[in-house]
This record gives sequence, C-alpha cells and structure tokens, in this order.
Amino acid sequence: MQRIAVLTSGGDAPGMNAAIRAVVRKAIYHGLEVMGIKRGYSGFIEADIEPMNLRSVTDIIHRGGTILHTARNEQFKTGQGRAMVWENIERFGIQGLVVIGGDGSFKGALALNAEYHLPVICLPGTIDNDISETDYTIGFDTAVNSVVEAINKIRDTASSHERTFIIEVMGRETGLIALHSGLAGGAESIIIPEYPYDIEKICSRLIRSYRQGSSHSIIVVAEGAASGVEIGKEIKQRTGFDTKVTILGHLQRGGNPSAFDRILASMMGSKAVELLMSGENKKMVGYTDGQVVAIDLEQVCNRKKKIDLNMYTLAGILSM
Ligand code: ADP
Repeated sequence: MQRIAVLTSGGDAPGMNAAIRAVVRKAIYHGLEVMGIKRGYSGFIEADIEPMNLRSVTDIIHRGGTILHTARNEQFKTGQGRAMVWENIERFGIQGLVVIGGDGSFKGALALNAEYHLPVICLPGTIDNDISETDYTIGFDTAVNSVVEAINKIRDTASSHERTFIIEVMGRETGLIALHSGLAGGAESIIIPEYPYDIEKICSRLIRSYRQGSSHSIIVVAEGAASGVEIGKEIKQRTGFDTKVTILGHLQRGGNPSAFDRILASMMGSKAVELLMSGENKKMVGYTDGQVVAIDLEQVCNRKKKIDLNMYTLAGILSM
C-alpha cells in the first residue's frame, strides 16, 4: 500500500483534528502518502482532494471542528454517486480509506467497499457516543465536559434565586451525554430516552428536597427523551416552583478537545493506519478496557449502543 486517504463525515466532533493529525503523521512515518478529502463524501464525489504532509496538520491537535470540513451528501447514498467516487479513487490512486464519523458515515464506507473493494477503516467520531462496540467515541468526553461546565455556572445562579433549572442537552437516540454530565454535575434528576421517566416522581423529589432545605435543583434532559420546555411547564404546573429552561444546543459540539479526546483520537488514528498497512478491511477502531481494538464494521452497524443502567441508578441514589 502506497497511498491512503482520510475524510471526516456527518456531524463534526472535537478531536477529529487530532485523529486526522495522527493518521497523516503515522502514515508518513511509515512512508505512505496521504490524501485529504474535503467535506466528507461530497468532496470525494467532486474531487476536492489534496495531498497532505507533516505541516498540513501542524497546530491543529487542540482545535475543535475538522480542518477537512464535514458534510452530509444524499448523492453518495446512490450507486451513481459512488461511481463518481470510484473515478476519483482511481484518478488519485487511493488504495485505502480512513473514515472519521458516525454510523451513517460507516454505512457509506461499507457500501463503497462492497462495490469497489476499497479497504476501509472507520474511526468513531461523534459527541453522542452512540456507536456500539466502543466505550468512547472521539468528542464525547469534550461534550460532557462542556455540559458540566454549563451546569456549574447555572448552579451558581440557581442557588442565588431558588429556582429549578432544566438543562436540555444533545442526544436523540442515546442519553449518554445527559447521563454522564448529570452524574458529574450532581443533577437532581436525569431524563434519558432509554428509560421511561415519571414526572410525578420527579416533582415529589423536588418538593422533598425543597422541604429538606435545598434552595435549587438541576434537571438534565436528553433532547430525545423530552423537550426541556415541556418538562419545565409541567413541573411549574404541578409544584408551583419557578422553572428556567436552558437549551445548550451547539455549544456542546464546539470547543477545544479535552486531553482524553486528543489521546483517544491519536491512538485511534495511529491504529487505523496500522490496520490498513496489515491488510485489514471493514474494521472500526474501538476503545474497550483501555485498549484500542479492531472491530468488525458490519457488527458495529448492526448493533445498538447499550446504556449502563447501573450508572443511571447510581446517579439517582447519589442525588438524594
Ligand atoms: P453520521 O456519520 O454522523 O451518522 P449521517 O448519518 O448524516 O452522519 O451520514 C453521513 C453521510 O454518510 C451521509 O450524508 C451519506 O453521504 C453517507 N451515508 C449515510 N448512510 C448511508 C448509507 N446507508 N449508504 C451510503 N451512504 C450513507
């Protein structure tokens, strides 16, 4: 193998740059050439492809987003779109591909491999951590830290005003950001899509903790479980407590990657190059029990991430 390519696709996540840097530098270290494909599969179709060198990835390890940019592309989902990609694979002499993205991007990589036999290795890059067969995805730790920072700030003002604050966080399918940030931020209640919530119970908890002298409460809601605004209205109706809702939105996606995400991305990027060099194909680099490991990509796409309900129970016990 002489020349590989790398792209970022789907939603951006902090740490993607650290992963690109690792892929580029590790490949060059082993004497490979690396092409950078811009805007995910869009750039692949449109031949927006450039050679990368050691300097192309200078000064990016600490930056959020992705220097290669990312996109969603409907045309790539068709055989005709992928045929255009194949022309560019041949034109640029690409012999292996590293895809950094979420499970949609992985399915795209599998489709490309099925039709044109291009070896593909995927890295999980998404703040949601909604990818199976890996404990962490690149960007999740940073997103959780951003939410915890917001909870800290909101808690300061909440305690001065005796209010109930509802914080809506990202997570359509999985409540992992809500669960981890809620536990780390000491939230009184956490609402996630994986577990049915009982508004009556949440309200009686609020009333009990108010009677016990607590001046304020924080409730973290994953967007996929309920609307923060609706939860706020219901609590106000049932308890009479003043409620304030904060929707954190895109600030969870940005920011400098945490040290953990930079290290994870560096290890995963390096592993991806090793796998391509050793002739591996259709693998995702996962992180389990402190190790980066190669996992069958189809298996990853066919399984749903499970949430640790013990952690959910623990958060409930500790917030008494
Ligand atoms: P993510 O990778 O974050 O899950 P998307 O689901 O939007 O993001 O997928 C990113 C891109 O991957 C899509 O815009 C499309 O080009 C490609 N893709 C997604 N699903 C498929 C599929 N089933 N077959 C081929 N390509 C796909």
